Amino acid sequence: ASELKDRDRKYVIHPHQRADRDERHIIVRGKGSTVWDAEGNEYLDAMGSANWMGQVGHARPELAEAAAEQMAELQYFTGFDVYSNEPSIRLAERLAGLAPEGIDRVFFTNGGSEGVDSAFKAARLFHFRRGEPDRTWIISRRLAYHGCTYGSGTASGFDLVQHGFGPNLPNVEKVTPPLPFHSELYGGQHPTDFLVNELEQTIERIGAGNIAAMIGEPVMGGAGVVPPPDDYWPRIREVLSAHGILLIADEVVTSYGRTGVWFESQRRGMNADIIVTSKGLTSGYMPLGAVLIRNGIADAITEAEGFFHGHTYFGHPVACAVAMANLDVLEREGLLDRAKQIGEWFEADLAPAREFPTVGEVRVAGATAGIELVADRQSREPLLAGAAAVSAELRRAHHVIVRDYNATVVLAPPLVLERSQARQISEAIVEVVSRLRG
Ligand code: PMP
Repeated sequence: ASELKDRDRKYVIHPHQRADRDERHIIVRGKGSTVWDAEGNEYLDAMGSANWMGQVGHARPELAEAAAEQMAELQYFTGFDVYSNEPSIRLAERLAGLAPEGIDRVFFTNGGSEGVDSAFKAARLFHFRRGEPDRTWIISRRLAYHGCTYGSGTASGFDLVQHGFGPNLPNVEKVTPPLPFHSELYGGQHPTDFLVNELEQTIERIGAGNIAAMIGEPVMGGAGVVPPPDDYWPRIREVLSAHGILLIADEVVTSYGRTGVWFESQRRGMNADIIVTSKGLTSGYMPLGAVLIRNGIADAITEAEGFFHGHTYFGHPVACAVAMANLDVLEREGLLDRAKQIGEWFEADLAPAREFPTVGEVRVAGATAGIELVADRQSREPLLAGAAAVSAELRRAHHVIVRDYNATVVLAPPLVLERSQARQISEAIVEVVSRLRG
């Protein structure tokens, strides 16, 4: 195993590897919510393959069989123009059935960043075809993560994804995110009043006739699992509609049951024009994303010379067959309800952590949770080193895999997590956080 780690260091470029975090864990096997490394150590996967997915859990034979059967039948054939394949047709039809009313068209990608870029291009092309070519600006929010391509990376709201990569995509503007815990951001006002006012001023400054779309996650993930105030999305949507600006929901994390529903944007009153999904669509078994596009917009971008934007593996039959098997498991095993139950377990079991001086807030949204750490509960100053230390200690001492985002420890386990496993995760967190000093 140590020899494998040396070869890994020598040959593999890890995207987020930093000089000061040189640990390596080579994961070789999984089952349900458990994974094993090359040394035989067992870990509880409290973070969906350490990347917000894995709805149906590790090593499901149903998904493996779907892949093998499709590969033996037809592995790939382009879907660019006159050719198509049955798994992609069946999946698109099924997603249209699950999607909110008025959204029946599906554009396939290999993942989330490509989906976000596709949504930006679709939004711009829609306005272009409708005779409003100046509508090019994209509004996003600080602290958001939307991906790492030039489009999605520029729309992401923190420096690391942009630093040293410039020039980035022009005509992207960022507004304040809804983080109710950080009331200092809203100058004493109700966060939604402040944010709606800020959006109106931003639109006025750029000019409504220059803006294509706004993008946002229904519940911010990378910002630390942050549900917005209930009136946030309905009021933002109202402002955008009044100005002919499209709304793109980035549901790369929140779709396919992660929060207990198929699409969190629908529950939050976003009434999105475009919904970008990935991760949970195949539970990570295949790289696949689906961009769900409102019918009128889909009509506009497919008319005349078409969309002319597509990746080689568009509608990959093996990935689509696996997605179908994944959705079958989600439905058959009632995993959407299970996500809500997991959220209730986290609420109950993490309650003791709320009393600790270094815990600012514990937030739960379905089967995902964020524990935001503070140096001081009065000032709400973030305990930046805390979350990384907690994450490392959970892995070392408790063999529990979580993620840390700034000052927040994040959980997003497989939806097959068992009661005892949920308790084990929460107890480990409570134990480690209880020892943390601000
Ligand atoms: N949007 C969100 C909300 C994400 O969390 C991610 C990935 N973590 C992406 C987009 C980008 O997806 P991908 O890494 O598949 O390109």
